[in-house]
Amino acid sequence: MKSKAAIEAIIMKQGFSDYKWINPKEIVVAHWVRVKCTFGCGDYGLGTCPPNSPSVNDCDSFFKEYESGLIIRLTKYADKNAYPSDWSREMTNKLLDIEREVFLSGYQKAFLLNQTCCTLCKDCSGNRVNCKDKTNSRPSPESFAVDVYQTVRNAGLDINVISENPSEINKIAILLIE
Ligand code: SF4
Repeated sequence: MKSKAAIEAIIMKQGFSDYKWINPKEIVVAHWVRVKCTFGCGDYGLGTCPPNSPSVNDCDSFFKEYESGLIIRLTKYADKNAYPSDWSREMTNKLLDIEREVFLSGYQKAFLLNQTCCTLCKDCSGNRVNCKDKTNSRPSPESFAVDVYQTVRNAGLDINVISENPSEINKIAILLIE
């Protein structure tokens, strides 16, 4: 097993410096998040999004199985009409590398909630069974019913609704470690 400092070195090696340790048992899980995934989000039905993710209550129970975790905040100036997909893919690959290295350090429960809905494939199968990249597909915090705003604020980090476009945006990943 590695120390917190050693895990932070793994994260910083991938270029991330904006992160906070959290107690996953304090991650805020809420039904309103699931409702907004189901009604109003254009990504509903993708392979790692509802209805392909666990129930809200199961998500809540899942987080309580962990003793430690990290919020990793990504910041990017972006135009929602020309989303920086290449940057997002690069970030996802780095986060997956972190999850893998932490796992190999002896944390068998290491699990990444990615900074975006899974968009690894041009055409998503729309379900888990026929997923085209089962090894690398990971859910987002929102698809696990995480109230990202409240969880991030409770951790002492700033996050706000974006009202202008283009604008600086924040993307949030959560790495669960044990
Ligand atoms: S890896 Fe591809 S098929 Fe699987 S959930 Fe992601 S986008 Fe969909």
